[in-house]
Amino acid sequence: MNLNIKDSFNKELPADPIQENDRRQVTEACFSFVTPRIPSKPEIIHSSLEVAKLLGLNEADLKSETFKQIFTGAKVLEGSNPYAMCYGGHQFGSWAGQLGDGRAINLAEVEHDSNSWVLQLKGAGETPYSRSADGLAVLRSSIREHLCSEAMYHLGVPTTRSLSLSLSGDQVMRDVMYDGNPALEKGAIVCRVSPSFIRFGSFEIFASRKDTTNIKKLADYAIKNFFPEINLGTKGAYVEFFNAVLNRTLEMVVHWQRVGFVHGVMNTDNMSILGLTIDYGPYGWLENYDEEWTPNTTDRSNRRYRYGNQPQVALWNLFQLANALYPLVEEPKPFEEALEKYKADYEEQYLQMMRSKLGLETALDNDSIINQILIDTLALTETDMTIFFRLLANVQKDDTVEAMTRVVQDAFYDEKAIKEGVLESWKSWFKIYKGRLVSETQSDAERKAKMNLVNPKYVLRNYMAQLAIDEANKGNYDLVSELYNMLKNPYAEQTEYQKWFAKRPEWARNKVGCSMLSCSS
Ligand code: AMP
Ligand code: MG
Repeated sequence: MNLNIKDSFNKELPADPIQENDRRQVTEACFSFVTPRIPSKPEIIHSSLEVAKLLGLNEADLKSETFKQIFTGAKVLEGSNPYAMCYGGHQFGSWAGQLGDGRAINLAEVEHDSNSWVLQLKGAGETPYSRSADGLAVLRSSIREHLCSEAMYHLGVPTTRSLSLSLSGDQVMRDVMYDGNPALEKGAIVCRVSPSFIRFGSFEIFASRKDTTNIKKLADYAIKNFFPEINLGTKGAYVEFFNAVLNRTLEMVVHWQRVGFVHGVMNTDNMSILGLTIDYGPYGWLENYDEEWTPNTTDRSNRRYRYGNQPQVALWNLFQLANALYPLVEEPKPFEEALEKYKADYEEQYLQMMRSKLGLETALDNDSIINQILIDTLALTETDMTIFFRLLANVQKDDTVEAMTRVVQDAFYDEKAIKEGVLESWKSWFKIYKGRLVSETQSDAERKAKMNLVNPKYVLRNYMAQLAIDEANKGNYDLVSELYNMLKNPYAEQTEYQKWFAKRPEWARNKVGCSMLSCSS
């Protein structure tokens, strides 16, 4: 196994001088050196050949003993200096102080084909940032992170990647629903891969300590490595940097809304400065279209991180980042202007995205009204978002509105509910939609082909991940592989996987892991 190690973060940025692995406040440093914990009986249970290739590895490497040792923490890569990053964050709207990589350990940066990737083990043991927790991760949440990272990538959503999923061979104690019922679970390790794991909170921690020197060092490092189009040397560079992060974050959220992804824990420590989806915890996918929905039980009362609120929360988080970068600019105006612009830009990009979901080529002034009526109608009775948009592509311009309603019938959870008022609402919306389709020049077939590239057929519904988890807990990883393979082509018909193009089954409606997820992982 040959990896071209080219570390920069742990070479160019200030290190914590203390090398003991005990929990502490770490100041004036971006990271602490730390060695992964030795697992008792490591076993790789799934790996991604695609991600391996990004790193210059091949299929034989994935099967090698060295791969297993390195990516479960059993052995440290020669020439590498693993470390945990220091960051803070606003959690659920409140400043939480120092957080940091409590259970993530960055192994090394690897360069391949002119791209640079950080390899990071999640669940590889304690670090100075572990606070009161154990530094470990369990199999269920690791399967969810491994599968979803790759599913999101193939959906075209900016995300960190996942190279491998392993068992540590150790048992981990977790209270899944925080209700006083702790139980032992299988410990697992995921190797995440990203150009960088710098978060909004990486800047906030220094700002909270009035450490402008290190805000600058980190910002300069980020700009130099990830935003090379920005010229360093003036205060304006940091404004440009902020604008670039803002634009990427906005783009990421528009994608989330497009595919019905709900992150679940949009704390500022979980926001990547590269606009990548990061930290897959109690995330979920909208099944019945409901803007109020959040998968995270920890957030059940406030629903801060509900689907419909994600664009606003991203803005709130960007506001925190602006505050953290402010000492480098010392002028509020450019930040205010950028944040102000976000709202209009979001509306515009969101609407354009919705047009693409609807297969509309032209932009008309009242499209936002058509969209709003659609959203209101979708919510009248439980309507599966993924299935609705996928079936909508089968509508023909010449269909009657009754026929159009029948085309999407399978998306309704209770088909019998589509009568009287609800049926009339659908017919009214289809009447407007039909008018739009008729006014456009593209054929039904052309529109369908385009819509099927933005409306996925297959997404990782929570109950699907839970089925894979239940099997994996029994030692059978076939379903992990099956879902992984299917989710590599979410827009393709893949009739062999037709059974996964289905509404959430009734048994999954209120089941832990399917509709309810806590932060316990
Ligand atoms: P999260 O909600 O997963 O983003 O985690 C928030 C913070 O808690 C981060 O600093 C994590 O590193 C830390 N954390 C979460 N779970 C653990 C754990 N089992 N051991 C140590 N730190 C953890
Ligand atoms: Mg996190």
